[in-house]
Formats: sequence, structure tokens, C-alpha cells
Amino acid sequence: MGWFDGKAGLVTGAAGGIGRASAVAYAAEGGSVIVADLESSRAKGEETVAMIHAAGGNAAFIPVDVSDDAQVEALVDATVREFGRLDFALNNAGIVEMGFTADISEQAWDRLFEVNIKGVWLCLKHELRYMRAHGGGSIVNTASESGLVGTPLASPYVSAKHAVVGLTKTAAGEYANMGIRINAIAPGSVWTPLMASAPAEAQEMLMAPQPMHRFGTPEEIANAVIWLSSHKASFITGITLPIDGGATASAQSFDPNLSPTA
Ligand code: NAD
Repeated sequence: MGWFDGKAGLVTGAAGGIGRASAVAYAAEGGSVIVADLESSRAKGEETVAMIHAAGGNAAFIPVDVSDDAQVEALVDATVREFGRLDFALNNAGIVEMGFTADISEQAWDRLFEVNIKGVWLCLKHELRYMRAHGGGSIVNTASESGLVGTPLASPYVSAKHAVVGLTKTAAGEYANMGIRINAIAPGSVWTPLMASAPAEAQEMLMAPQPMHRFGTPEEIANAVIWLSSHKASFITGITLPIDGGATASAQSFDPNLSPTA
């Protein structure tokens, strides 16, 4: 028996990294999964679908820009049309913007907030519309260790991820009596295509505060996601679970390279 036998759900940002690993993990536990990502990431999204099919699972790709209300509404409706139900969701799509606080452009700030917090809220809004009318469900939002502590050079990202933590707490309280659990995960530095494309110094800077002194793997994050989504976590709602090799449990050391010089 799989944890998600007979159940169905969606994962945003599932064309790669944490989203892909989580989609694969839900499907390995019997869940039918909509792999949702930008139209421009369709080829990678279809790769995730093919991985799930190759392992005997059930999945389909649906394009979405999570910052667009109509597209998110259509995603939830299409998921229900495809599988007849919506039991779980991982609202995971996200982008990064690097730079010191005073140097971020207004346009970059706005786009990051549109994707990383408005996108999570829009997903919640439409998932809740279905779940509250159909007996409940379980939702996980991808925050970050940057939703719990500050991170140099990432103020819009840190601000939006802190907002994901607050949104998760508030929505969890509002819908707990409807059989809907809403939690968040706070991954530390994880080896994803995004991380692999960063300069070596940036990789070292991001890994250094992690006492385990290694990157997490997308599969380690996915293991926590599916557990938090499952009936095994039935009395847990509103939490943000760090999965970070001990990073947020330890004071981060000061690095002069992480301050502006003038
Ligand atoms: P990734 O870049 O591999 O995955 C992000 C996915 O989101 C991509 O496939 C991208 O196409 C998609 N996406 C971006 N904008 C979108 C939009 N508007 N609509 C729909 N899809 C969109 O990165 P990842 O590392 O797997 O990150 C996944 C999530 O985990 C993000 O929310 C990220 O902030 C978070 N996170 C990552 C790390 C890490 O170290 N990699 C750490 C903490 C949190």
C-alpha cells in the first residue's frame, strides 16, 4: 500500500530540482501527479512525467505561470478533470534574485514577489476552493531557510519566503476545521540545477553555514514533503519544517564578503 494510493495532486515548479523529486516521490507512493511548470519549461516537465511513467506511475504535464490567477484556476480545474480529485498539492515554484538590498531594481523586486508569494497564495486560493468543498486535503508550500533567517544578498527572496511562512500559519488556522492541513518546508542549500549553475564561490557561501557541510539532495527534501503531506503527519498543521543540515539551528558566521564595500 502506498501513502497516496487512489489520491491525486499537483506540484508546481516540477520541471526540475525539488519539485521534480517530489512529484516522483508522490507517484512512487501511488499518487497521480500533475507536473506543473512554465510553458517554457515544458520539455523538462515532460521529462519528469516520463520518469514517473517509467516507474509505473501516473502523471501529466500542465503549463502554468503561478503568478497569473486565471492560469492557476485553470490548473486546479484541469487537475480535477484529469484525475477526478485533488488531495495534495506542493506549491513549490520559485525564483531567485541576488544583490545587496539597496541595489535591487523595483522590477526585480516586484517579479520575485509575484512568483514567490502571490503565486503561492493564488495556488492556495484555488486549491482551497476545491478542497473545502470536497472533504479536505493536504497542502505544502515551499518556503526556505531564508523564510526563517536572513541571507545576505537576497533581501527580496528572504522577504517573500518569510511571507510564505506567515501565509502558511494563517491559512492553516483558518482551514483546520475543514480537514485541510497546510504546512511549509524550509530547505537549506540543495543541489538542484539552479545551484549547479551558480559560481563556485556562491555555492561555497551557501553551503558554509550548514553544519553537515554538504548540500542537501532534492530527494532528501522530497522525503520530508511527502511525509508532511501524508496521513503520517495527520496532527501537524501550520508548521515550517527546516530540512537544512542544521543550518537554522546554528548561528551563521559573519563573512565580510557579504557586506557592501561602499
Ligand atoms: P529550480 O529552478 O530547479 O525549480 C524551480 C521551478 O519553478 C523551475 O522549474 C521553474 O521553471 C519554475 N518556475 C519559475 N517561475 C515559475 C512560474 N512563474 N510559474 C510556474 N513555474 C515557475 O529550483 P529548486 O531549487 O528546485 O527550487 C524549488 C523551490 O525550492 C523554490 O521555491 C526555491 O525557492 C526553493 N528552495 C530551493 C533551495 C535550493 O537550495 N535549491 C533552498 C530553499 C528553497
